[in-house]
Amino acid sequence: MKDKIVSLIRLQYFDNRIKEINIKKKQGPQRIKELEAELNSHEERYSGAKNKLEILKKERHAIENDVQDIDRKIEKSQIKLNNIKSNKEYRSALKEIDDLNREKSIKEDRLIQIMEEVEDLETKIRQNNGEYEGLKEKFNRDKDSIEKDLVDLVRESGILENKREIFVQEVDQDLLRTYLFLRDKKGGQAMSAIKSGVCQSCHIGIPPQQFIELQKCGSLLNCPHCNRIIYWADDEFFRDAIHTLEQDG
Ligand SMILES: [Zn+2]
Repeated sequence: MKDKIVSLIRLQYFDNRIKEINIKKKQGPQRIKELEAELNSHEERYSGAKNKLEILKKERHAIENDVQDIDRKIEKSQIKLNNIKSNKEYRSALKEIDDLNREKSIKEDRLIQIMEEVEDLETKIRQNNGEYEGLKEKFNRDKDSIEKDLVDLVRESGILENKREIFVQEVDQDLLRTYLFLRDKKGGQAMSAIKSGVCQSCHIGIPPQQFIELQKCGSLLNCPHCNRIIYWADDEFFRDAIHTLEQDG
């Protein structure tokens, strides 16, 4: 009976490791997606600032043209002013120049504002650019390492599944059916060790009479509470078997 139970312990060990690897196999691509989203959101912030900079530069260019236009108009008005005879015309020409100067001054104020904003944005973009480059480098490094791990995991799970497939042929078919039935019903865990009289899966003690039977190991026993197949963890035979499993895989 002990050999039979050891074969189930081994099977459980294979299944647990395959399950663990399958979970890790899903985590890797998920992590890459998260990192990619982080990188993209940074890039979006950066492109937002770049767009704003472009708009401001266009506005600056348009205002500079406007100011040149105003200067030309002022020049014309000055010439006109020199050839004026009547007072009324003179006043009106002066007012025109005044209005143009006021308009020019408003435009120039806006220009100063734009230059300050452009400077701020350019500094921000430079910083963002540096951060982005760092982030991208880190992303590429992390992605490479995750992908490398993934290749290892796929290989490892392939080896394990092959080993399991070969091994499962040696397992008593009735026992295998019981094991698979329990494994699927019990969240992947069909086997449970009993330590100091307590089931390590459901953490409930088993009755003393059953514990004595368990130590004798004459038949297949189930935990009276969680129904998993139980074995006595302090039995040297099982301890050695588990130790060997952990060493050899
Ligand atoms: Zn139990």
